[in-house]
Amino acid sequence: MHKSLLQLIIITLVTPQIALSQNGNTGKMDFETYDPVSTLRVPGHTITKSKFPFIDVHNHQWGMGSGSLESLVKDMDNMNMQVMVNLSGGNGSSLEKMAENVKEQYANRFIIFANINFDGIGSDGWTNKAVKQLQQDVQHGANGLKIFKNLGFSVKDTDGKRVTVDDVRLDAIWQKCAELKIPVLIHTADPAPFWEPLDEHNERWLELKTHAQRKRSATDPAPWETLIEEQHRMFKKHPNTTFIAAHFGWYANNLNKLDSLLTDMPNVYVEFGAVIAELGRQPREATSFFTKYQDRILFGKDSWVPGEYATYFRVLETEDEYFPYHKKYHAFWRMYGIGLPDDILKKVYYKNALRIIPNIDKSLFPG
Ligand SMILES: [Zn+2]
Repeated sequence: MHKSLLQLIIITLVTPQIALSQNGNTGKMDFETYDPVSTLRVPGHTITKSKFPFIDVHNHQWGMGSGSLESLVKDMDNMNMQVMVNLSGGNGSSLEKMAENVKEQYANRFIIFANINFDGIGSDGWTNKAVKQLQQDVQHGANGLKIFKNLGFSVKDTDGKRVTVDDVRLDAIWQKCAELKIPVLIHTADPAPFWEPLDEHNERWLELKTHAQRKRSATDPAPWETLIEEQHRMFKKHPNTTFIAAHFGWYANNLNKLDSLLTDMPNVYVEFGAVIAELGRQPREATSFFTKYQDRILFGKDSWVPGEYATYFRVLETEDEYFPYHKKYHAFWRMYGIGLPDDILKKVYYKNALRIIPNIDKSLFPG
Protein backbone atom coordinates (compact mmCIF):
# COMPACT_ATOMS: atom_id res chain seq x y z
CA MET A 1 0.00 0.00 0.00
CA HIS A 2 2.67 2.41 1.02
CA LYS A 3 4.74 1.41 -1.97
CA SER A 4 2.04 2.10 -4.59
CA LEU A 5 1.19 5.46 -3.03
CA LEU A 6 4.82 6.42 -3.28
CA GLN A 7 4.84 5.35 -6.94
CA LEU A 8 1.80 7.53 -7.65
CA ILE A 9 3.47 10.55 -6.06
CA ILE A 10 6.63 9.97 -8.07
CA ILE A 11 4.68 9.64 -11.36
CA THR A 12 2.65 12.79 -10.62
CA LEU A 13 5.76 14.81 -9.89
CA VAL A 14 7.92 13.52 -12.72
CA THR A 15 5.44 13.32 -15.66
CA PRO A 16 5.15 17.08 -16.39
CA GLN A 17 8.91 17.26 -16.54
CA ILE A 18 9.08 14.45 -19.11
CA ALA A 19 6.49 16.27 -21.27
CA LEU A 20 8.46 19.50 -20.96
CA SER A 21 11.71 17.90 -22.00
CA GLN A 22 10.08 16.42 -25.14
CA ASN A 23 8.91 19.80 -26.40
CA GLY A 24 11.40 22.05 -24.69
CA ASN A 25 15.04 22.81 -25.16
CA THR A 26 16.41 19.39 -24.33
CA GLY A 27 14.28 17.26 -26.64
CA LYS A 28 13.89 17.09 -30.42
CA MET A 29 10.85 18.40 -32.20
CA ASP A 30 9.60 17.36 -35.63
CA PHE A 31 9.40 19.75 -38.58
CA GLU A 32 5.62 19.62 -38.80
CA THR A 33 5.16 20.54 -35.13
CA TYR A 34 7.46 23.55 -35.19
CA ASP A 35 5.32 26.61 -35.90
CA PRO A 36 6.83 29.63 -34.17
CA VAL A 37 4.77 32.79 -33.71
CA SER A 38 6.69 35.68 -35.26
CA THR A 39 7.57 38.44 -32.82
CA LEU A 40 8.37 40.83 -35.66
CA ARG A 41 6.21 43.94 -35.58
CA VAL A 42 6.09 45.66 -38.98
CA PRO A 43 3.23 47.29 -40.92
CA GLY A 44 1.19 44.80 -42.93
CA HIS A 45 -1.81 44.74 -45.25
CA THR A 46 -4.66 42.31 -45.77
CA ILE A 47 -5.76 42.61 -49.38
CA THR A 48 -8.85 40.60 -50.22
CA LYS A 49 -9.61 42.57 -53.39
CA SER A 50 -7.10 43.36 -56.13
CA LYS A 51 -6.23 46.99 -56.89
CA PHE A 52 -7.29 46.58 -60.54
CA PRO A 53 -9.75 44.14 -62.09
CA PHE A 54 -7.94 40.97 -63.08
CA ILE A 55 -8.10 37.89 -65.31
CA ASP A 56 -7.15 34.56 -63.76
CA VAL A 57 -5.75 32.58 -66.69
CA HIS A 58 -5.29 29.36 -64.71
CA ASN A 59 -8.50 28.05 -63.17
CA HIS A 60 -10.34 24.74 -63.16
CA GLN A 61 -14.12 24.42 -62.95
CA TRP A 62 -15.50 21.05 -63.88
CA GLY A 63 -19.18 21.59 -63.14
CA MET A 64 -19.82 24.63 -65.33
CA GLY A 65 -21.81 22.71 -67.93
CA SER A 66 -25.04 23.02 -65.96
CA GLY A 67 -26.53 24.84 -63.01
CA SER A 68 -26.26 28.37 -61.72
CA LEU A 69 -22.97 30.24 -61.89
CA GLU A 70 -24.20 32.92 -59.52
CA SER A 71 -22.21 31.96 -56.42
CA LEU A 72 -19.05 31.51 -58.48
CA VAL A 73 -19.46 35.00 -59.94
CA LYS A 74 -20.13 36.37 -56.45
CA ASP A 75 -16.79 34.96 -55.25
CA MET A 76 -15.12 36.48 -58.32
CA ASP A 77 -16.74 39.88 -57.69
CA ASN A 78 -15.60 39.89 -54.07
CA MET A 79 -11.95 39.75 -55.11
CA ASN A 80 -12.25 41.86 -58.31
CA MET A 81 -11.74 38.93 -60.71
CA GLN A 82 -13.52 40.14 -63.83
CA VAL A 83 -12.75 37.14 -66.03
CA MET A 84 -11.97 33.56 -65.13
CA VAL A 85 -10.27 31.32 -67.68
CA ASN A 86 -11.55 27.80 -67.14
CA LEU A 87 -8.86 25.49 -68.48
CA SER A 88 -10.99 22.38 -67.95
CA GLY A 89 -13.30 22.82 -70.92
CA GLY A 90 -12.89 19.30 -72.25
CA ASN A 91 -14.00 18.90 -75.83
CA GLY A 92 -16.96 17.97 -78.02
CA SER A 93 -20.44 18.02 -76.54
CA SER A 94 -19.33 18.69 -72.96
CA LEU A 95 -17.43 21.82 -74.05
CA GLU A 96 -20.41 22.92 -76.12
CA LYS A 97 -22.71 22.53 -73.13
CA MET A 98 -20.35 24.51 -70.92
CA ALA A 99 -20.06 27.33 -73.45
CA GLU A 100 -23.86 27.49 -73.75
CA ASN A 101 -24.42 27.59 -70.00
CA VAL A 102 -21.91 30.44 -69.68
CA LYS A 103 -23.45 32.33 -72.60
CA GLU A 104 -26.91 32.12 -71.07
CA GLN A 105 -25.80 33.43 -67.68
CA TYR A 106 -22.55 35.43 -67.61
CA ALA A 107 -21.31 35.53 -71.20
CA ASN A 108 -18.44 37.95 -70.58
CA ARG A 109 -17.14 36.61 -67.25
CA PHE A 110 -15.70 33.28 -68.40
CA ILE A 111 -13.30 32.10 -71.07
CA ILE A 112 -13.08 28.39 -71.83
CA PHE A 113 -10.03 26.48 -73.02
CA ALA A 114 -10.43 23.14 -74.80
CA ASN A 115 -8.48 19.96 -73.99
CA ILE A 116 -7.15 17.24 -76.30
CA ASN A 117 -8.31 13.66 -75.93
CA PHE A 118 -5.12 11.64 -76.39
CA ASP A 119 -6.86 8.25 -76.48
CA GLY A 120 -5.81 6.30 -79.55
CA ILE A 121 -2.79 8.42 -80.47
CA GLY A 122 -0.75 6.31 -82.87
CA SER A 123 -3.77 4.95 -84.73
CA ASP A 124 -4.42 6.01 -88.32
CA GLY A 125 -5.88 9.46 -88.67
CA TRP A 126 -5.60 10.37 -84.97
CA THR A 127 -3.89 13.71 -85.63
CA ASN A 128 -6.45 14.80 -88.24
CA LYS A 129 -9.29 13.88 -85.94
CA ALA A 130 -7.77 15.82 -83.04
CA VAL A 131 -7.20 18.91 -85.18
CA LYS A 132 -10.77 18.78 -86.49
CA GLN A 133 -12.12 18.39 -82.96
CA LEU A 134 -10.14 21.43 -81.81
CA GLN A 135 -11.40 23.49 -84.72
CA GLN A 136 -14.96 22.52 -83.85
CA ASP A 137 -14.40 23.30 -80.16
CA VAL A 138 -13.21 26.80 -81.09
CA GLN A 139 -16.32 27.27 -83.24
CA HIS A 140 -18.35 26.28 -80.20
CA GLY A 141 -16.70 28.93 -78.05
CA ALA A 142 -13.27 27.75 -76.87
CA ASN A 143 -10.65 30.52 -76.88
CA GLY A 144 -7.52 28.54 -76.10
CA LEU A 145 -6.09 25.08 -75.59
CA LYS A 146 -4.92 23.66 -72.26
CA ILE A 147 -2.48 20.76 -72.15
CA PHE A 148 -2.35 18.93 -68.82
CA LYS A 149 0.78 17.33 -67.40
CA ASN A 150 -0.46 13.88 -68.45
CA LEU A 151 1.29 14.68 -71.75
CA GLY A 152 4.85 13.68 -70.92
CA PHE A 153 3.85 11.81 -67.77
CA SER A 154 1.27 9.19 -68.62
CA VAL A 155 -0.02 9.55 -72.18
CA LYS A 156 0.93 6.43 -74.14
CA ASP A 157 0.46 5.69 -77.82
CA THR A 158 -1.12 2.59 -79.31
CA ASP A 159 2.27 0.85 -79.07
CA GLY A 160 2.38 1.54 -75.34
CA LYS A 161 5.20 4.08 -75.66
CA ARG A 162 5.31 7.35 -73.70
CA VAL A 163 4.22 10.24 -75.91
CA THR A 164 6.82 12.99 -75.52
CA VAL A 165 5.80 16.65 -75.29
CA ASP A 166 7.54 17.29 -78.64
CA ASP A 167 6.02 14.26 -80.39
CA VAL A 168 5.65 14.99 -84.13
CA ARG A 169 2.12 13.59 -84.12
CA LEU A 170 1.12 16.71 -82.16
CA ASP A 171 2.77 19.25 -84.47
CA ALA A 172 -0.39 19.84 -86.51
CA ILE A 173 -2.27 20.74 -83.31
CA TRP A 174 0.21 23.49 -82.38
CA GLN A 175 0.11 24.73 -85.98
CA LYS A 176 -3.68 24.87 -85.90
CA CYS A 177 -3.56 26.97 -82.72
CA ALA A 178 -1.33 29.50 -84.50
CA GLU A 179 -3.77 29.59 -87.41
CA LEU A 180 -6.78 30.02 -85.12
CA LYS A 181 -4.83 32.66 -83.12
CA ILE A 182 -5.50 30.93 -79.81
CA PRO A 183 -2.86 30.43 -77.10
CA VAL A 184 -1.81 27.07 -75.66
CA LEU A 185 -1.43 26.98 -71.88
CA ILE A 186 0.72 23.97 -71.08
CA HIS A 187 1.76 22.34 -67.82
CA THR A 188 4.74 20.00 -68.18
CA ALA A 189 6.44 18.03 -65.38
CA ASP A 190 6.25 19.24 -61.77
CA PRO A 191 8.64 20.99 -59.33
CA ALA A 192 12.16 19.57 -59.77
CA PRO A 193 12.49 18.51 -56.07
CA PHE A 194 9.85 15.82 -56.76
CA TRP A 195 12.65 13.97 -58.60
CA GLU A 196 15.20 14.40 -55.82
CA PRO A 197 15.81 12.07 -52.86
CA LEU A 198 13.14 12.34 -50.18
CA ASP A 199 15.44 13.40 -47.37
CA GLU A 200 16.23 16.30 -45.07
CA HIS A 201 17.71 18.32 -47.96
CA ASN A 202 14.56 18.28 -50.09
CA GLU A 203 12.62 21.60 -50.04
CA ARG A 204 9.39 19.75 -50.90
CA TRP A 205 9.84 17.08 -48.25
CA LEU A 206 6.54 17.88 -46.54
CA GLU A 207 4.59 17.91 -49.81
CA LEU A 208 6.03 14.54 -50.83
CA LYS A 209 5.37 13.13 -47.38
CA THR A 210 1.73 14.23 -47.46
CA HIS A 211 1.22 13.54 -51.21
CA ALA A 212 3.38 10.45 -51.80
CA GLN A 213 1.97 9.91 -55.32
CA ARG A 214 3.74 13.08 -56.47
CA LYS A 215 7.20 11.50 -56.06
CA ARG A 216 9.00 10.93 -59.37
CA SER A 217 12.27 9.41 -60.47
CA ALA A 218 14.49 9.29 -63.55
CA THR A 219 12.49 6.30 -64.78
CA ASP A 220 9.06 7.39 -63.53
CA PRO A 221 8.51 8.42 -66.19
CA ALA A 222 11.73 10.24 -67.22
CA PRO A 223 14.22 12.70 -65.74
CA TRP A 224 12.86 16.19 -64.98
CA GLU A 225 15.33 17.77 -67.42
CA THR A 226 14.18 15.46 -70.22
CA LEU A 227 10.55 16.53 -69.88
CA ILE A 228 11.41 20.23 -69.67
CA GLU A 229 13.72 19.97 -72.71
CA GLU A 230 10.95 18.26 -74.70
CA GLN A 231 8.69 21.20 -73.91
CA HIS A 232 11.29 23.79 -74.95
CA ARG A 233 12.07 21.95 -78.22
CA MET A 234 8.36 22.01 -79.01
CA PHE A 235 8.09 25.76 -78.19
CA LYS A 236 11.01 26.51 -80.52
CA LYS A 237 9.67 24.36 -83.33
CA HIS A 238 6.44 26.40 -83.37
CA PRO A 239 7.48 30.06 -83.17
CA ASN A 240 4.14 31.28 -84.55
CA THR A 241 2.15 29.61 -81.80
CA THR A 242 1.69 31.49 -78.53
CA PHE A 243 2.44 29.31 -75.50
CA ILE A 244 1.81 30.06 -71.85
CA ALA A 245 4.16 27.96 -69.69
CA ALA A 246 2.15 27.15 -66.55
CA HIS A 247 3.71 27.69 -63.13
CA PHE A 248 6.52 29.88 -64.57
CA GLY A 249 7.70 26.76 -66.42
CA TRP A 250 8.92 25.49 -62.99
CA TYR A 251 11.72 28.05 -63.09
CA ALA A 252 10.27 30.54 -60.56
CA ASN A 253 13.15 29.49 -58.29
CA ASN A 254 15.69 30.29 -61.01
CA LEU A 255 14.65 33.54 -62.66
CA ASN A 256 18.05 33.96 -64.23
CA LYS A 257 17.47 30.75 -66.20
CA LEU A 258 13.88 31.72 -67.03
CA ASP A 259 15.19 35.07 -68.26
CA SER A 260 17.44 33.37 -70.81
CA LEU A 261 14.65 31.01 -71.86
CA LEU A 262 12.18 33.83 -72.48
CA THR A 263 14.80 35.77 -74.43
CA ASP A 264 15.39 32.67 -76.51
CA MET A 265 11.69 31.94 -77.09
CA PRO A 266 9.72 35.15 -77.82
CA ASN A 267 6.48 33.17 -78.37
CA VAL A 268 6.39 32.03 -74.72
CA TYR A 269 4.53 33.67 -71.83
CA VAL A 270 4.43 32.56 -68.20
CA GLU A 271 1.86 32.53 -65.39
CA PHE A 272 2.62 32.15 -61.68
CA GLY A 273 -0.08 29.70 -60.51
CA ALA A 274 1.05 27.88 -57.33
CA VAL A 275 4.54 29.45 -57.40
CA ILE A 276 3.90 32.87 -55.83
CA ALA A 277 5.88 31.76 -52.76
CA GLU A 278 8.97 31.40 -54.95
CA LEU A 279 8.60 35.03 -56.04
CA GLY A 280 7.86 36.22 -52.51
CA ARG A 281 11.11 34.79 -51.18
CA GLN A 282 13.25 36.80 -53.65
CA PRO A 283 11.58 40.21 -53.88
CA ARG A 284 14.53 41.98 -55.50
CA GLU A 285 15.15 39.34 -58.20
CA ALA A 286 11.40 39.11 -58.80
CA THR A 287 11.06 42.88 -59.17
CA SER A 288 13.74 43.05 -61.85
CA PHE A 289 12.24 40.02 -63.63
CA PHE A 290 8.76 41.59 -63.62
CA THR A 291 10.24 44.84 -64.87
CA LYS A 292 12.06 43.14 -67.76
CA TYR A 293 9.23 40.76 -68.68
CA GLN A 294 6.23 42.94 -67.80
CA ASP A 295 4.64 42.12 -71.20
CA ARG A 296 5.04 38.33 -70.84
CA ILE A 297 3.66 37.55 -67.37
CA LEU A 298 0.04 36.60 -66.69
CA PHE A 299 -1.92 36.19 -63.46
CA GLY A 300 -2.72 32.54 -62.70
CA LYS A 301 -3.66 30.77 -59.47
CA ASP A 302 -4.70 27.16 -60.34
CA SER A 303 -6.51 25.69 -57.32
CA TRP A 304 -9.85 27.39 -56.66
CA VAL A 305 -9.70 28.52 -53.03
CA PRO A 306 -11.01 32.12 -53.04
CA GLY A 307 -9.40 32.99 -49.68
CA GLU A 308 -5.91 32.20 -51.00
CA TYR A 309 -5.90 34.97 -53.63
CA ALA A 310 -5.10 37.48 -50.86
CA THR A 311 -1.58 35.99 -50.69
CA TYR A 312 -1.08 36.72 -54.40
CA PHE A 313 -2.36 40.33 -54.11
CA ARG A 314 -0.11 40.89 -51.10
CA VAL A 315 3.04 39.70 -52.89
CA LEU A 316 2.26 41.67 -56.05
CA GLU A 317 0.89 44.91 -54.60
CA THR A 318 2.56 45.54 -51.24
CA GLU A 319 6.02 45.94 -49.80
CA ASP A 320 5.04 43.98 -46.70
CA GLU A 321 7.81 42.07 -44.97
CA TYR A 322 8.13 38.55 -43.67
CA PHE A 323 4.58 37.28 -44.05
CA PRO A 324 3.46 33.65 -44.37
CA TYR A 325 2.30 31.72 -47.40
CA HIS A 326 -0.97 29.81 -47.00
CA LYS A 327 0.36 26.23 -47.37
CA LYS A 328 3.33 24.98 -45.40
CA TYR A 329 3.95 22.13 -47.86
CA HIS A 330 4.56 24.60 -50.68
CA ALA A 331 6.62 27.02 -48.61
CA PHE A 332 7.82 26.78 -45.06
CA TRP A 333 9.50 30.19 -45.49
CA ARG A 334 8.03 33.67 -45.17
CA MET A 335 7.68 36.16 -48.00
CA TYR A 336 8.13 39.81 -48.96
CA GLY A 337 5.96 41.95 -51.23
CA ILE A 338 7.36 43.13 -54.54
CA GLY A 339 5.17 46.26 -54.67
CA LEU A 340 4.72 46.47 -58.45
CA PRO A 341 3.98 49.92 -59.87
CA ASP A 342 0.49 50.45 -61.34
CA ASP A 343 1.55 50.25 -64.99
CA ILE A 344 3.16 46.81 -64.53
CA LEU A 345 0.37 45.63 -62.24
CA LYS A 346 -2.22 46.43 -64.93
CA LYS A 347 -0.28 44.42 -67.51
CA VAL A 348 -0.01 41.41 -65.23
CA TYR A 349 -3.61 41.66 -64.01
CA TYR A 350 -5.29 42.05 -67.41
CA LYS A 351 -3.52 43.83 -70.26
CA ASN A 352 -1.27 40.93 -71.29
CA ALA A 353 -4.14 38.44 -71.18
CA LEU A 354 -6.33 40.78 -73.24
CA ARG A 355 -3.62 40.86 -75.89
CA ILE A 356 -3.09 37.10 -76.30
CA ILE A 357 -6.44 35.48 -75.39
CA PRO A 358 -9.19 36.26 -77.94
CA ASN A 359 -12.73 37.42 -77.21
CA ILE A 360 -12.34 38.83 -73.71
CA ASP A 361 -14.69 41.79 -73.17
CA LYS A 362 -12.32 44.78 -72.96
CA SER A 363 -15.03 47.03 -71.58
CA LEU A 364 -14.68 45.26 -68.22
CA PHE A 365 -11.22 46.79 -67.75
CA PRO A 366 -9.84 50.31 -67.43
CA GLY A 367 -7.94 51.64 -70.47
ZN1 LIG B 1 -3.86 23.67 -63.41
